[in-house]
Amino acid sequence: MRILIVDDEPTVHDGYRLALSPPPASAAALSAMAGELFGDLPDAPPHNDDAPVFDTVHHLQGLDAVAEVERALAAGDPFRIAFIDVRMPAGIDGRDTARRIRALDPDIQIVIVTGYSDFSLVDIARVAGPVDKLFYIAKPFEVGEVAQLAASLGKRWGMDRALRDAHATLARQLVQLEQQAAELAANERRALHVASHDSLTEAPNRVAFQRALHERVRRPGAFAVAMLDLDRFKQVNDTMGHLAGDALLRAVCRQLQDALPEGGMVARLGGDEFGLLYDTQDQASGLATADALVAACSTTVTIFGQSVRGAASMGLIVADPAGGNDAVHLLRRADLALNDAKRHGRNCARLFDRELDENVRLRQRIEKGLSRAIERCELSLAFQPIVSGAAHEIVGFETLLRWNTREHGPVSPAIFIPIAEESNLIHELGDWVLERSLMAVKRFPGQYVSVNVSPRQFRRQNFVADIRARVERAGVDPARIQIEITETAIFDDAEGAARTLDQLRALGFRIALDDFGTGYSSLYNIRTFALDTLKIDRSFIEGMPRERESLAIVRSIIHLAHSLGLNVVAEGVETQAHVDLLRAAGASHLQGAFFSCPVTAAQAIGLAHRRWLAGTGMRPTPLARTGTDG
Ligand code: C2E
Ligand code: MG
Ligand code: MG
Repeated sequence: MRILIVDDEPTVHDGYRLALSPPPASAAALSAMAGELFGDLPDAPPHNDDAPVFDTVHHLQGLDAVAEVERALAAGDPFRIAFIDVRMPAGIDGRDTARRIRALDPDIQIVIVTGYSDFSLVDIARVAGPVDKLFYIAKPFEVGEVAQLAASLGKRWGMDRALRDAHATLARQLVQLEQQAAELAANERRALHVASHDSLTEAPNRVAFQRALHERVRRPGAFAVAMLDLDRFKQVNDTMGHLAGDALLRAVCRQLQDALPEGGMVARLGGDEFGLLYDTQDQASGLATADALVAACSTTVTIFGQSVRGAASMGLIVADPAGGNDAVHLLRRADLALNDAKRHGRNCARLFDRELDENVRLRQRIEKGLSRAIERCELSLAFQPIVSGAAHEIVGFETLLRWNTREHGPVSPAIFIPIAEESNLIHELGDWVLERSLMAVKRFPGQYVSVNVSPRQFRRQNFVADIRARVERAGVDPARIQIEITETAIFDDAEGAARTLDQLRALGFRIALDDFGTGYSSLYNIRTFALDTLKIDRSFIEGMPRERESLAIVRSIIHLAHSLGLNVVAEGVETQAHVDLLRAAGASHLQGAFFSCPVTAAQAIGLAHRRWLAGTGMRPTPLARTGTDG
């Protein structure tokens, strides 16, 4: 350990040397031998391997000592102790030396060596403190005293240093720990955010929505749970690409957030489906808010320079303010209300009511009954003549499915077809209808059958190959089969539909677009599809004699259809007035109760041979319980 000694008296330095130099090895060995021979000698210094080794530097003047300290610090090899004589006539005195050394090295242990009191000790302590690093010994000192003091102060300096290093290490580790903790917390926050948010819209996701709903049902007060689904979102995706679809979703999400009442929640549940939760007073105000939210979605947004009009359907339920609500039930009911909104023309909000629940049960019963209808022989086909506009000659028959249940009597196709359409049953029913239609058409003297094909059947993978095989097997000319499709079948996947229609036409089938005018298509966008006939929906025919608009629509449809080279069948012709107006408008074909209601196969064969219908309106005979006429 390095020790600095500054004293103006050279002889004093000898005393220090004596005190602080190690006992020579030979002296130690000699005293050890003497000890063995004569027993312990009281004066012999005990040899100790751990005894400190002092490296002393001596100066006679304060300024030299200060310079020495400075050098030692710069070299990174500081002094542990400085013995400073107070009284030094040349240069600076001991007090000043101590002050300057302390200013350079705050760790050094300073021992003030005093002869008599030149300075007050308090005064020295003030300039060279702190007091725990400042010591005094009196002059003349004893050699042993200096050695002992040097050893213990040197050790203490080492301990202080080690302690300080340990503190510094600890402080560094603490900072590191704090950084790691902050990083962990940030990671956790990020992970939590990711787990509970949708990455596309940054809105809460399904998990967060369900959590919020479960929490909300535990609190009192009325609130609404709503499900919202974009209308025709698939079309945006298909025609403009997924990036446009994404942009629309983000835009709609923002609109919803802006339109939502204070404290409400919009979550993206997946795809184009959003969940909403907001406090409300009662059903009426809950529905008013829902209407506003739907309206907010139906704004036009510009995506990549193109205008896209958003539209959404919403179903909602207002929870019982008295409490006792079940989150799962609420969600299911909001979903039922959403389905109802979609069935009722979309772009609207529907409130859940109990009837919807009953509808679901009814649908389930119908589905079950329908799955057994074929084997129980409850199905039959009815045939409705289609006549030419001028001579009223029967050119074909539309085949219409009938279901006469054992338990409840006849069920309208308007009810069971949509249910079959939602399950896979439509394929089985469709195949059955086609087979029976092929059997019937062979018994007609030249007329065609017009078979209704539902969108799901039409979109089936092997639809064309299947119908071709069936027609070939039956030995029927495809020209005697007209396929009736709806606008939904075409426009939900325009490209696929166009391909299918081309193939069917190439095989010789006729194609009719059913219920024209009720959907979204215009004559402009149907012109690219391979069609033969437009069937004008009966709602327009019915309105014709009363409403100028219906008549105008029918006229313009007929006019434009002719210019596109298409036939027109007016459906639901019930009166002479209808016939007269349609003839004047130039309708090429007519169908409806005025000529004949749907009849059995046997009756249809009779009519087919008669060929002309006077327009008295043939009443159908009640269908047999078992469908023997198909
Ligand atoms: P649609 O294809 O538009 O069939 C015409 C509907 O109008 C038939 O109702 C027919 O009975 C009815 N109708 C015909 N003339 C008149 C009339 O003068 N006045 C009135 N008020 N109604 C008339 P239906 O048979 O109840 O069929 C309803 C719908 O069910 C059909 O509408 C069609 O979309 C669907 N459908 C019927 N049979 C089948 C089938 O075999 N397959 C598929 N996929 N759908 C079918
Ligand atoms: Mg039809
Ligand atoms: Mg129709």
